[in-house]
Amino acid sequence: MQRIAGVPASGGVAIGPAFRWRRVDLDMARSLTEDPAAEWSRFQAALQVAGEQLEQVCVYAEEQLGAQDAAIFRAHQLMLDDPELLDAVLVSIQEQRLTAECALNDAVETYVQLLESLGDEYIGARAADVRDVAHRLLCALQNVPTSPADELTVPAIIVAPDLTPSDTVLLDKSLVLGFCTAQGGATSHTAILARGLGLPAVVGAGPAVLDIPALAPLILDGDQGAVLVAPDEGTVAAYRARQSAAQAVQVRAQSCAHEPAITRDGHCIEVVANVGNVAGAQAAREAGAEGIGLLRTEFLYLERTALPDEEEQYRAYRAIADVFGTQPVVLRTLDIGGDKELPYLDLPREMNPFLGLRAIRLCLARPDLLKPQLRAALRAGAGRNLKIMFPMIATVAEVRAARALLDECRVELAAQGQPVTEDLQVGIMVEIPAAAVMADRLAPEVDFFSIGTNDLSQYTLAADRTNAQVAHLASAFQPAVLRLVHQVITAAHARSKWVGLCGELAGEPLAVPILLGLGLDEFSMNPPAIPRAKEILRSLSLEEARQIAQAALELDDPEAIQSLVRARVPAAQTE
Ligand code: PEP
Ligand code: MG
Repeated sequence: MQRIAGVPASGGVAIGPAFRWRRVDLDMARSLTEDPAAEWSRFQAALQVAGEQLEQVCVYAEEQLGAQDAAIFRAHQLMLDDPELLDAVLVSIQEQRLTAECALNDAVETYVQLLESLGDEYIGARAADVRDVAHRLLCALQNVPTSPADELTVPAIIVAPDLTPSDTVLLDKSLVLGFCTAQGGATSHTAILARGLGLPAVVGAGPAVLDIPALAPLILDGDQGAVLVAPDEGTVAAYRARQSAAQAVQVRAQSCAHEPAITRDGHCIEVVANVGNVAGAQAAREAGAEGIGLLRTEFLYLERTALPDEEEQYRAYRAIADVFGTQPVVLRTLDIGGDKELPYLDLPREMNPFLGLRAIRLCLARPDLLKPQLRAALRAGAGRNLKIMFPMIATVAEVRAARALLDECRVELAAQGQPVTEDLQVGIMVEIPAAAVMADRLAPEVDFFSIGTNDLSQYTLAADRTNAQVAHLASAFQPAVLRLVHQVITAAHARSKWVGLCGELAGEPLAVPILLGLGLDEFSMNPPAIPRAKEILRSLSLEEARQIAQAALELDDPEAIQSLVRARVPAAQTE
């Protein structure tokens, strides 16, 4: 038995065969064919394969995202029958004797250039769809998978160099038992998605995982951050027992997940969820969420090939808010950049994407991206309890600029006679140290703060959240981060503003007592963490939690802080 250590990214245990996955580069060398007829048949076979794949994707997307969002894949299916495209490929194969790959590539590039030259934003965006379909066809021609989700046929644990957030969104949960990657950090968006899906995951396990043979029996320990290759029977039995014990804990916590989290001395704490789509919102409600503290709107658009227009966004936000009725839903405006790329936006490459034109910075530079979203949100908020939150705020000027755009949208909508949300609460994420330091100046500008400890940790410790080598530094249990959290809550409360926390820290059993003691008003977390967090909150009194938090702020490192909570709060103990 071999043990490979990595970074624990999403808790739980998975037992099953390894499924090795690696993104394959397509061979696009320009070449000619001796046999055009055979090349045309090969192209037709690829059309058939791509058509079958798209049918599966459509059915899956319709179930997970709804018919509206799945429509894009239905449109992709139609492109496979586009007579102009097919004719262009046929002519190139027959007359220029190009291989099917080259003929397709030429036809697609001509088509895309034509679309882009029309100067119409909507039609231009269709170019990305054409490229997407072409990529699928090229993969089919070379017999390589387009994504890990496409190749998996039996339940297995994915072993890969890395997975992007888009790869992860498309994982079929009925077949993926968990995943392990050579690269990545615990608060990368890939890890966050895994937690939301309840999939055990270990990331940053280094190159050793890439030597795991295909189908090797594995145990994936998402709590400890380890992969056991070819485990012996005793180890498998011990892990199966752990799986059942963890399930029992979860079942017990779930049985009162819909009760409020009231501390022993009678303080009711708001527990809400981080979600990215309608299915996530429904899962959150079932897990006991009392609303949404962070709607990551960009997650809605990762698996698409073009940004949705205002109308589509309006429908998506309305559908998500409706899951929670009168309960609050905090919609965060687009946070593109860092590890969340939307290839179809075609943004310039940056040396340091996490320090670049990300989130509100991009949106202020490109009001054409932000304004349709704000208009959609304002409309969706009419008659609903929707709040708007801006990400990556570093300065007071940014908040004012974002609010000015929001006002502009409100005026425009009013002039059009559109009903919009009344009494809108507007907040910001505090996830850049500059914002934490300036919390006293930012508080008067907003209705609330939500602390994003995932980014606050990486920026405070100067440690990339996706880099396994510095995972120990990019921890929200670092005392420097907790001190900033304390400072932000104090500054906001002094100005009668409420404070939430939507970084992964909010759902960490060992962090819950500290955050309660620091005076946090709203805990927002991945849905599977909710029942347990509520249980921990109910086991404490506010006074007791305050003492724990005070003691934690005096300690020097994350391990000491976690040991302190482990010793003082039995309900927060992990195995
Ligand atoms: C955070 O940074 O803590 C946060 C919640 O936002 P995201 O993880 O999407 O960057
Ligand atoms: Mg963030």
